[in-house]
Amino acid sequence: MSSTAPLNLPLLLEPAELEPLLGHPQLILADLCRPDNYQVAHLPGAIHLSPAETQEGLAPAPGFLPDRARLQQLADKLGLAEDKWLVVYDDEGGGWAGRLIWLLDSIGFQRYSYLNGGLIAWHQEGRPLTDQMPASAQSSSFPIQIRLQRMENVPDRVMDAAGALAYNSLVSVFLGIRGEVPPLSWLYVPELSFGEFNRISFPSNYTREGAPPGHASILAEITFRPGDPVGSWSDAETIRHVSDGLSRMGLLKPEDVVYTAISRQDYAYVIYDLDYQEHVGIVRTFCREQGIDLVGRFAEFEYLNMDACIRHAWDYAERSG
Ligand SMILES: Cc1cc2nc3c(=O)[nH]c(=O)nc-3n(C[C@H](O)[C@H](O)[C@H](O)COP(=O)(O)OP(=O)(O)OC[C@H]3O[C@@H](n4cnc5c(N)ncnc54)[C@H](O)[C@@H]3O)c2cc1C
Repeated sequence: MSSTAPLNLPLLLEPAELEPLLGHPQLILADLCRPDNYQVAHLPGAIHLSPAETQEGLAPAPGFLPDRARLQQLADKLGLAEDKWLVVYDDEGGGWAGRLIWLLDSIGFQRYSYLNGGLIAWHQEGRPLTDQMPASAQSSSFPIQIRLQRMENVPDRVMDAAGALAYNSLVSVFLGIRGEVPPLSWLYVPELSFGEFNRISFPSNYTREGAPPGHASILAEITFRPGDPVGSWSDAETIRHVSDGLSRMGLLKPEDVVYTAISRQDYAYVIYDLDYQEHVGIVRTFCREQGIDLVGRFAEFEYLNMDACIRHAWDYAERSG
């Protein structure tokens, strides 16, 4: 069906009303069935959401509303917009589908309907089902800017939006030293007179494997904006800068450094500036339209910690079968 008439559907939508609308450009279908059911049969074009994606997921009350950033991610994943109409269903009598409506209502999206009887009624009435995924099951877990550079015919406004996403880079300097380090896990160093490093930690206090045998260790992190001079220092300059600064702090004597290593991360920390929502929205919408599922901190361009990255990868595996 190719009609572009604006959709305005009742809250409770009958299967017979929905079937002629399948393929409508403004229609979005959200499937909250068990993942194994989704793989076998779902409404054509339906996007799968695992019930876990609708919950905050933290003990002791995992069912709380996810925070606003995650709700926005859900909305982005579904492709919700002012001209779209969402129809939700599940295979459990409506609990999960109704929950999604509640979540979306909390962020102001009210263009939704609930499919009366869900998957069960649809199936019993012999209406169309498919096992085909709505988009290609492509995922990307490396930085979104790099992903877009690898693609052809990306519109300028998408490249501009990706280029405007702000982030910090990082250089980590590891020093193995003779002697002792303080009995601390880490400390922040807001004092620029010591050096450019903003955080130091003591890996040998966590594990004996965190230093050369019989020695202690210090890890210094220098966080900076791409283009800052510190990013173009050589390894030797950077290590000397850190060693001298730690010496001024009384944490080591430069002659006691027995081992050095350096690691650089161009993409380390997402920065939420005032234009973040607009730019990230443009990029995510484009990727979704291309059938690319973004998974991970710099793929989604979201300040995700390790646990959230694992969870998102898990969710991706579930929804893509
Ligand atoms: C200094 C620091 C401390 C942190 N501490 C913690 C902590 O204590 N607890 C915590 O939970 N989280 C912590 N984090 C965050 C955590 O490390 C990240 O959230 C997590 O590693 C991100 O996982 P990811 O899979 O999204 O990305 P990554 O693990 O960065 O994986 C992205 C991968 O893409 C690859 N890649 C990049 N470009 C390309 C390309 N062109 N082609 C192919 N592959 C490419 C990269 O090599 C990398 O392997 C810390 C992060 C930093 C930087």
